[in-house]
Amino acid sequence: MAGREAVRERHVRAAPWPYAGLDLAGGVGVPFRELVLKVHQRCNLACDYCYVYEHADQSWRERPRVMSDTVRDAALGRFAEHARRHGLEKVRILLHGGEPLLYGRERIARLAEAARAAFPDGCDVELGMQTNGVLVDAPMVALLVEHGIRVGVSVDGRAADHDRHRRTADGRGSFAAVARGLELLGRAENRAAYAGVLCTVAVDTDPIGCYEQLIAFRPPAIDLLLPHANWDNPPWRPAGRRTPYADWLFAIFDRWYREPEPPRIRLFDDAVALVLGGSARGEQLGLSPSGVVVVESDGAIEQVDALKSAYAGACATGLDVFHDDLDAALRDPGIVARQIGRAALSQECLSCPAVAYCGGGHYAHRYRRGTGFLAPSVYCADLRVFVRHVHRRVAADLRERQSALRERVPEG
Ligand code: SF4
Repeated sequence: MAGREAVRERHVRAAPWPYAGLDLAGGVGVPFRELVLKVHQRCNLACDYCYVYEHADQSWRERPRVMSDTVRDAALGRFAEHARRHGLEKVRILLHGGEPLLYGRERIARLAEAARAAFPDGCDVELGMQTNGVLVDAPMVALLVEHGIRVGVSVDGRAADHDRHRRTADGRGSFAAVARGLELLGRAENRAAYAGVLCTVAVDTDPIGCYEQLIAFRPPAIDLLLPHANWDNPPWRPAGRRTPYADWLFAIFDRWYREPEPPRIRLFDDAVALVLGGSARGEQLGLSPSGVVVVESDGAIEQVDALKSAYAGACATGLDVFHDDLDAALRDPGIVARQIGRAALSQECLSCPAVAYCGGGHYAHRYRRGTGFLAPSVYCADLRVFVRHVHRRVAADLRERQSALRERVPEG
């Protein structure tokens, strides 16, 4: 692990804001409610857009392949101490990688037992995992059900679309294996272990075909994720299209909005909640403070992985679970910046009419070398028209319902 001074210097060079330009007195210190444990650093797939292996940060090469029991226990101990100190009644622990199922059944079971034993009575510990789904077989699903671990599976829509990006190192597509895993998770006896599916938006695919494939897996929830990109590495856009990502999302949103029983799509739930004056639960929209911290397989305390798409070392805090508690991470400028809402936004965002809904977009998507994270999202044009579209749709619906109500229940 790099020393703290080296970590700080690297940040100041690559991201003057927040690392050299944020007044830390403004930090609100919202406690972490989710711990991401990087239990296995390698993956059995080689997806071409992966932010862990294919983007700027290559720190996975230097870390232990598997998290040791010593690091596991230190990380759980730090999180339990944090929960006690802040009186948390509910926490979430997410197993992540690489591919967390490579950690193996025995280790996963021991981790689940250790996690539940570490926390005080009265603190509900929810266990989850984000997997590529290839290793989801019957014995694994039985273990997940037994230990109350809910898995989210990454799947990018239809077979041909999925297999273009989510392939093994020797070029074979993974859709067939993932679909087998999802079929198992969808069975009534296994649904307790099924958290949902996560799909990365690909604007060269048919959005409705993608949506229909995702709902065919009957997931409890769907995450649609904009590909990680920033001003130095902008997202791919088809020639002549200004807002292809918004257009892709509209197509699904309009279909979803008309469904008699729409599936849970977190991005859309957040967009509608924000339009109605509520707050977002995800990180792609809104101004809710982030409450997630990561522990790497060597014990380093880090920020969320999506920042790996910005610059090498962007997630580093210079802290680790053997020497530092999690409150120390709450004072890291990068983490403070993700908890202070409007105070972390650029002038352009602050004067934008969509700011209350968009919130500047995902923090990682604001990055530009030389200025750092004080910028609008690289998806700004898409986000602006997407939230406007949702706003119009919901407002029209409310007007219609209000006039129907007036007809049925006349005023006075
Ligand atoms: S739409 Fe663009 S300018 Fe407006 S808040 Fe979002 S990122 Fe900022």
